Amino acid sequence: MTRQPLFGLTLSKLQQIAVDNGLPKFAAKQMADWLYKKGATTIAEMTNLSKAAREKLEFNFVVGRTAPETVAQSTDGTKKYLFAVGNGFIETAYIPDKERNTLCVSSQVGCKMGCKFCMTGRQGFGGNLTAGEILNQMASIDEHDRLTNIVYMGMGEPLDNLEAVLDSLEILTADWGYAWSPRRITLSTIGVWPAIEEFLERSQAHLAISLHTPLSSQRADLMPAQRAFPIEQTIERLRRYNWTGQRRLSFEYTLFDGLNDTPQHVAELARLLNGLACRINLINYNSLPDSELRGTPRRRMEDFRDRLNAKGFTATIRNSRGQDIDAACGMLAGKRKMEEE
Ligand code: SF4
Repeated sequence: MTRQPLFGLTLSKLQQIAVDNGLPKFAAKQMADWLYKKGATTIAEMTNLSKAAREKLEFNFVVGRTAPETVAQSTDGTKKYLFAVGNGFIETAYIPDKERNTLCVSSQVGCKMGCKFCMTGRQGFGGNLTAGEILNQMASIDEHDRLTNIVYMGMGEPLDNLEAVLDSLEILTADWGYAWSPRRITLSTIGVWPAIEEFLERSQAHLAISLHTPLSSQRADLMPAQRAFPIEQTIERLRRYNWTGQRRLSFEYTLFDGLNDTPQHVAELARLLNGLACRINLINYNSLPDSELRGTPRRRMEDFRDRLNAKGFTATIRNSRGQDIDAACGMLAGKRKMEEE
């Protein structure tokens, strides 16, 4: 019989387990404490539960944390962890910077969305992660107590795995969980509706939209999901929310040489986002093997940024990190998958 993991269960799910196993309800809070505050990796460590309670739990459950399989370290300090999940692998990137240490977590094994420029998209879909598998990426790395920010920008489309992602966000931010401020968490999506509405109602984390071009037909070519979730509709719907408070809306825009980096794109972008309180993050593209897409040279990236800033937008260039360790998301997991096959 497979024992079910406790790690990644919300307080209400732990309460149900306590009730089902004849334990007092407060045992759920004690379990949450051990799982998320004290970092227990076995049920035996949960010493304020009675011996009988621990034995009962051990019969059906495990904590369920797993160590990374491998780690690659870049000369710039970026680390890329590879975790084995189900039949596949996922990547987690640790990105230290001057005053912040960001962790980029995966939410799925592979991805269904098939974006042309993405290594993960090329691998196809291998399954959803559980909330425990999402949180394990932060809990089981050496730097877990040094993290200042978490971004859901790794492998997969987080809003295509909504319930597990929302559970992981609840555990990250609840007082009984990791008690993180939602202002230190950002979820990035291509714009999946109605899942965005659920996310905005049930979480306070920041939202980033992968935009990459304001032109509908070009976006459909780069990102087939544009056909199901047109960016124009996404932006019209996002206008209904208040983005001038603490919750931040940003747009991710990867610059491809000669493709989406022209003055016409600046003008269309300005028209599309007109009046919306948001930031635009311009991303340098690391070419993939066998791809005709190339990154825009630095000087033209700066020109694109300056043109957006001149139109009143807050646009910044994000520097690529960890270029020497297959920085593009999905590269390591893809290689490992090929080795296993
Ligand atoms: Fe999926 Fe994101 Fe890659 Fe698109 S860019 S294929 S949504 S992981």
